[in-house]
Amino acid sequence: MSEKRVYTFGNGKAEGKADMRNLLGGKGANLAEMNLIGVPVPPGFTITTDVCNEYFEKGKETVVSLLRDEVIASVHHIEGLMNSKFGDIENPLLVSVRSGARASMPGMMDTILNLGLNDEVVRGLAKKTGNERFAYDSYRRFVQMYGDVVLGMKPVNKEAIDPFEAIIEKVKAQRGISLDNEMTVDELKQLVDLFKKAIKEQTGKDFPTDPMDQLWGAICAVFDSWMNERAILYRKMEGIPAEWGTAVSVMAMVFGNMGNTSATGVCFSRDAATGENVFNGEYLVNAQGEDVVAGIRTPQQITKLGSQRWAEQQQIPEEERATKYPSMEEAMPEIFAQLDALQHKLEKHYHDMQDMEFTVQEGKLWFLQTRNGKRTGTAMVKIAMDLLHEGEIDEKTALKRCEPNKLDELLHPVFDKDAQKKAKVLTRGLPASPGAACGQIVFFADDAEKWHEAGRRVIMVRIETSPEDLAGMAAAEGIVTARGGMTSHAAVVARGMGKCCVSGAGALNVDYKARTVEIDGVTLKEGDYISLNGSTGEIYFGEVKTKPAEVTGDFADLMKLCDKYTRLVVRTNADTPHDAQVARNFGAVGIGLCRTEHMFFDNEKIKAMREMILSDTVEGRKKALEKLLPYQTKDFYGILKAMDGCPVNIRLLDPPLHEFVPHDLAGQQTMAEEMGLTVAEIQKRVDSLSEHNPMLGHRGCRLGNTYPEITEMQTKAILGAAVQLKKEGFNPEPEIMVPLIGIVNEFDMQEQVIRSTANKIFEEAGVEVEFKVGTMIEIPRAALTAGYIAKKAEYFSFGTNDLTQMTFGYSRDDIASFLPVYLDKKILNVDPFQVLDQTGVGQLIEMAVDNGRKTRPNLTCGICGEHGGEPSSVKFCHRVGLNYVSCSPFRVPIARLAAAQAAVEE
Ligand code: PEP
Ligand code: MG
Repeated sequence: MSEKRVYTFGNGKAEGKADMRNLLGGKGANLAEMNLIGVPVPPGFTITTDVCNEYFEKGKETVVSLLRDEVIASVHHIEGLMNSKFGDIENPLLVSVRSGARASMPGMMDTILNLGLNDEVVRGLAKKTGNERFAYDSYRRFVQMYGDVVLGMKPVNKEAIDPFEAIIEKVKAQRGISLDNEMTVDELKQLVDLFKKAIKEQTGKDFPTDPMDQLWGAICAVFDSWMNERAILYRKMEGIPAEWGTAVSVMAMVFGNMGNTSATGVCFSRDAATGENVFNGEYLVNAQGEDVVAGIRTPQQITKLGSQRWAEQQQIPEEERATKYPSMEEAMPEIFAQLDALQHKLEKHYHDMQDMEFTVQEGKLWFLQTRNGKRTGTAMVKIAMDLLHEGEIDEKTALKRCEPNKLDELLHPVFDKDAQKKAKVLTRGLPASPGAACGQIVFFADDAEKWHEAGRRVIMVRIETSPEDLAGMAAAEGIVTARGGMTSHAAVVARGMGKCCVSGAGALNVDYKARTVEIDGVTLKEGDYISLNGSTGEIYFGEVKTKPAEVTGDFADLMKLCDKYTRLVVRTNADTPHDAQVARNFGAVGIGLCRTEHMFFDNEKIKAMREMILSDTVEGRKKALEKLLPYQTKDFYGILKAMDGCPVNIRLLDPPLHEFVPHDLAGQQTMAEEMGLTVAEIQKRVDSLSEHNPMLGHRGCRLGNTYPEITEMQTKAILGAAVQLKKEGFNPEPEIMVPLIGIVNEFDMQEQVIRSTANKIFEEAGVEVEFKVGTMIEIPRAALTAGYIAKKAEYFSFGTNDLTQMTFGYSRDDIASFLPVYLDKKILNVDPFQVLDQTGVGQLIEMAVDNGRKTRPNLTCGICGEHGGEPSSVKFCHRVGLNYVSCSPFRVPIARLAAAQAAVEE
């Protein structure tokens, strides 16, 4: 690690720059960069992310002593540029202390503002600014924030409000006022005393008066916040490693709460919800930054257009809007012009949508932060395609800008237009994060989690959300808040998650104690259904019907761009014509796995299937299979037709037979009646099918090899359907796949059955259909002997579910018993059944592909395990030269993007 632990910036100079985000965190790197490109930023310094790791390794005391000289020198650096002194009672410097990791984690870690105040310094600040009210307002905010973040003041239970807010409410109630800014200077002073008293009572700690002590407390608290519950959860959700650590940026305070020529706000260079290329954001006059983000006061719009759109949603007439809720563009035109110019400059500089924080102190504009903005999946695609068309980025960059998993949001259902027209609108809020959602109302994050686990769909209804609500937000279908704007915590986090969210729905009266919400005279309880339209901000009564999404517009253009660069194509795993059609609409170019067993569960089919399983003679089985044949033929006809002109890889029967027979007495009785046997006879047969380890038992090609008549029937059905289609003028491309082979002879025998059955069918029909016979590679021995197997098999499909199971020796059905512990102890970093183990299982795949192609150079290789739709695994498949991946229909676009990215990253 580098010896330098602290990097300063200020006055157009900086020791860091944008590409140092790993060391300085996103915030620190961009603060440095903004200095270098001439954006006004208050001076400050950043303590590196390496120090964060050092902090957790060596402990607080050691790290403070290692940092001491550099931090003190850097404080002097700020003092020099600000012409003031930290802790000085005449001309005090105040600072903010902020977190900033390599990847942005909005609201997950802690921030402290106005640091450096105590009972003497506050008097100096009042004198220096001539604004006693401002000085004491800043002081009470500082004590409140420091108490909360550094000294650990928390609400006592979930229904209770924040202890400091409770004190504020009490003081206001005593005088019968309702707004914070109606408080007198004396009341603010009183608040400071009451806050300090409450801190002492609840935590036993005195409030530190020495500014340097305050600073060390704050720096350490920010490091500590890297390990708070919500940050850990957020990292888990976003796949951010704990080793990255957070940096700490300390900056001179600039004040948005110095009167009516001061303000603070958050803005985006494009719309983070829709991607539309319009500058937008919110601000508050005479306020500090936290007020906007925390959703305590509902802020106003920055642009006139934004303000007009907002008023329209709130059904406020233009005249009233212009007088009561003017935009910054109207109220502070000069500052707005500067802000607008700088937001353009920053977007041009970073070639991406920026999310910026600013403060105006007595008419002077300062930027406090810029970062690439979090955005919804829809916005991600639109912004990438727009920047491409604007010539800001090239095609490859546009592809890399889109995160494959985020496309999932674009595939979610949308409201059915007719149902939506008929739906009863309860009220409107702000369209904070688009999408359609419906579910049952819950008011608390932990209830959202519990209900979700119990299989219920929930909508979380809150006055406002805080980072503590993260897990609940993740579990909910959608989020509604009564307060807060488009940049409130709920809105920003929901957009990052791709969750539907309506914020600032002012008509909502939430009563946490009663667990009810009253909206214009209608009272809804916990458990009642509501629906949300995150694109319009409407909240509907009850459940509103939804319909599937479509690939159109920018999304379709992005997919076309994928096709231009990709080498690896995407097929789908589908067992029904409907799924096949859905996948085809999403761009699947074939079926990579059709699991035939799912077709046997219909009423009539399962009867015939059970009859087959129960008979202990070949004749008996053949008779039952004759009954199954027409059903199977019809199923394959449907699928081959839906995928006309594309390869359809059909796997022969795979699961152990016991999965098809009833294990309960009632089921066995019905079965006995249907088959004209006694219950005892049925039970005997069911018992005989039971295996100690069915996953390693009588399944896969072992079934076909012991009962070749099954393979014969399935071949007849597949090729019979193909012949019929060909006669009708279609172009079926069947592939017949033998599962779970470990020895080439297993394949050999099955192939003989398939080929001889095919010959008979073609002869009878007088028509031939081209088809292939291939195998799954899902047993390590098959991978090891792939060179031999490829002599016979025309293609390989890697069944990485079983291959993972057998390579690790983890039962795929029982891994849940130890996986959480393994993940927790970092024995495993990810679930290998979700993310392909490239080093172990991957080695088998790579070797099998190489050896297979040595024998048969044009051997087609694909993957059909769950990994086929997981982006990092798809990229691996590209690198080892597979021809295709196959995944569930709703992952097809995700796999297409990952495959294209793999090609451009090469
Ligand atoms: C596999 O094993 O990866 C596979 C696709 O087959 P199944 O999941 O049906 O065992
Ligand atoms: Mg398998």
